[in-house]
Amino acid sequence: MAQSFLLATGNAHKADEFSELFPGDIISVSCAPEKVEVVEDGLTFSENALKKAEAYYRKFGQPVMADDSGLNVSALPEELGIHTARFGGDGLSSGQRNELLIDRLKDKEGSDRTAAFVCVLCFYLSPEEIFFFEGRLAGSINNEQSGEGGFGYDPVFIPEEADGVKSLAELPDWKQKCSHRAKACQSALKFFKERVGQN
Ligand code: IMP
Repeated sequence: MAQSFLLATGNAHKADEFSELFPGDIISVSCAPEKVEVVEDGLTFSENALKKAEAYYRKFGQPVMADDSGLNVSALPEELGIHTARFGGDGLSSGQRNELLIDRLKDKEGSDRTAAFVCVLCFYLSPEEIFFFEGRLAGSINNEQSGEGGFGYDPVFIPEEADGVKSLAELPDWKQKCSHRAKACQSALKFFKERVGQN
């Protein structure tokens, strides 16, 4: 039987997305009945994922899965990363954040344009049993937006593992299998599958 986790989010769309990334009967995730406000002031993706997981576990008393993700850009180490969602300040649209990123990198070339999406999953079974999984997707920031798929920074991100030309927003099927989120989920699935086999 699948091990069930409450997802540390009030966002049903996120629960659907993760359900697709956990096929089979190893891990099942469902949306928490209500959103819990958590101050994401950790210094790493893992710390923020743990903070969310702990808060939802305290509130609902059930195993929880929390995620935290963002974009690391080599030339702007302090500005994105764990602060990705707030890059450029509050109230900007994704398109505006992408334009700002393009502008901030306009004089940069080569390795200064490299970037990586990171996703950390925290599986909080109890205070004594907490597991983390990380997925990364390396690439570079383009100097224009392209593509209609995906969300957030997908239109400016060129993954190096694909054709090195198309943005993530132009590769929705590829993204579903190869994204930072998909990779973290695949690692978690492998771990929990082996664990079930041992018990
Ligand atoms: P969160 O972990 O869902 O809060 O995401 C943090 C930030 O990273 C948000 O601003 C997202 O736009 C960005 N982000 C995370 N994953 C992706 C992705 O797959 N594509 C584009 N942007 C992403």
